[in-house]
Amino acid sequence: MNENNSNEAPVDEQVSRHRKRKHDKRGETMDSFLKTSGLRRRVLVVDDEIINRMLIGNMLEAEYDVVYAENGREAVERLENTKTGFSLILLDLMMPEMNGFEVLDYAKHSEALKNIPIIVMTSDKDAEVKSIKLGAVDFITKPFHMPEVILARCERVIELSEDKNIIHSAERDPLTGLYAKDFFFEYIKQVEQYNASRQAMDAVVFTIEHFHLINEVYGREKGNDVLRTVAELLVDLFKDSAAFACHAEDDVFYIYCKHRESYDDIVDVCQQSLEEHSRSPKIFVRAGVYPEVDPEVPVETRFERAKVAYTRIRGDYTQKVAFYSSELYEKAIYHERLIADIEDAIENGDIKVYYQPKYAIRGKTPRLRSAEALVRWFHPELGMISPGDFIPLFESNGLIQKVDNYIWEQAAAQIKAWRETYGVTVPVSVNVSRIDIYDPDIESFLANLLTENDLDPSDLMIEITESAYAENADRLIEVINNLRGRGFLIEMDDFGSGYSSLNMLATIPIDVLKMDMAFIRNMESDDKSLRLVRLVIDIAKFLEVSVVAEGVETKSQLDLLKGMGCDYIQGFYFSGPVPPEKFAAFIEADLKVKQEERGKTHDN
Ligand code: C2E
Ligand code: CA
Ligand code: CA
Repeated sequence: MNENNSNEAPVDEQVSRHRKRKHDKRGETMDSFLKTSGLRRRVLVVDDEIINRMLIGNMLEAEYDVVYAENGREAVERLENTKTGFSLILLDLMMPEMNGFEVLDYAKHSEALKNIPIIVMTSDKDAEVKSIKLGAVDFITKPFHMPEVILARCERVIELSEDKNIIHSAERDPLTGLYAKDFFFEYIKQVEQYNASRQAMDAVVFTIEHFHLINEVYGREKGNDVLRTVAELLVDLFKDSAAFACHAEDDVFYIYCKHRESYDDIVDVCQQSLEEHSRSPKIFVRAGVYPEVDPEVPVETRFERAKVAYTRIRGDYTQKVAFYSSELYEKAIYHERLIADIEDAIENGDIKVYYQPKYAIRGKTPRLRSAEALVRWFHPELGMISPGDFIPLFESNGLIQKVDNYIWEQAAAQIKAWRETYGVTVPVSVNVSRIDIYDPDIESFLANLLTENDLDPSDLMIEITESAYAENADRLIEVINNLRGRGFLIEMDDFGSGYSSLNMLATIPIDVLKMDMAFIRNMESDDKSLRLVRLVIDIAKFLEVSVVAEGVETKSQLDLLKGMGCDYIQGFYFSGPVPPEKFAAFIEADLKVKQEERGKTHDN
């Protein structure tokens, strides 16, 4: 044993230092994880002499899984071929086939080896210096005395190397004492090395929805209290699950733990505890779970997936836990693609406007009254994408505004183009999303379109879906009042589909009621729907506004609606949405009808 070496503090001190550290820091982290999950670190002992392998093996086996190699070549092959990592290599220098120096040299350039610490075992003082230069982190002197010291050294080297990668990031979140996010990810990466048995693990994201309300109503101090309580609860609830916990964002916690079938109980306990702190019916605990993670998927991505699962139930009060599936994944990827492509699509003209005619049916012959502009996306690779696939997506991230502005511009230009070709104005209604109404410039944007295309405000009609009212009635009323003030006509779309229909009518001045399609679809099979259709038509009469029925597909539906006094019809019975070139035929046909009717009045 080399007493002069600075690496060798007195034995007692080394051992006690090691015990202390083990207790205060590691005792509750990686070690406890390995313990609860029944996993152990692996150490590779490389020595050509069986007696040395046995001696070292004896010292280490109580703490580690020990794997042996008889020479450098065998060691390198082992290390390159095993997926799960080794925590430490104990390396003899003098060996046949490939000696220890060659292994050290090789390790420096190998992805698989370069992060594994190597302790050299030698009796040759000169070799120590050379091996340290070659990248060994420590050495043990042969023959082997004092197993306690050797063990302590191995542990310390492993510990240093495990900490090396994570030392840069703040370890703990000061508020909750849980891991900070970067540290948490690094820790999982380290731990995975020992997950040789590939134990099934779950990545879980817990979110406190509307947590900010607690801060706002009770103050930040109270908010912090609540977060601490939730953190403690989570630690407690997961203490037998080989889990790591992290406070990822204000209202978001991550847990990495042994797989379990259900998380409902955990969400319930957290929810209960929250309710003790606040009575707000809006504050909900929800979980997204990526179960039995694929170890090939990067750690950060595993939690992204858990989040993807969560977003599926965000705001849906009927579900508290959502599991990630490959289907969800495909959908998320698809959505990412659409988001990435939409701006180019507008630029390249892949976004087109289709027009669906609306006919006035009160007279003897149906007459073309106007059109609705409906967006169509012809994606060069994905083919035609239905608005149902991208409108809600773009509403969720605000991109809808770009799309809608473009559609409005196109529609306004189209009204002008038809007028120039046919000498008549076909009014077009455009859809205004509930998100568009938050744009402070919406009114001036629409007004500009009129000036640019020399249109009357009544030529460009505005369809706003009823559900916008439920979301932000005040803003909707303001926008509608301003637009009507400028002479625009407002159609209330999907009327009857929401919960606020009547309430809304009392507060919002509108010009047209557009009945929800569902009533029409069911009115011949279901008496209640039929009576509702009649009711909506009566309401329109009472308010002295006109009423549109959309989704009309058959002659019998048309006749029924006509009989009840409905003013306008839109639907496949006349035509689905078509490109402007095709729509021209409807204008031409209507011009003929107009002429014939004129001719008749003339004859009379
Ligand atoms: P919406 O505004 O209620 O539009 C009517 C939808 O019903 C259109 O679907 C139309 O093609 C379809 N439809 C028309 N007649 C019939 C019929 O007889 N039977 C049936 N079954 N369906 C009929 P589309 O074009 O797929 O649009 C779906 C929804 O996407 C629209 O519902 C609207 O909410 C939204 N949307 C479409 N274009 C735009 C747009 O430019 N901007 C915004 N913000 N939303 C749009
Ligand atoms: Ca519409
Ligand atoms: Ca509609």
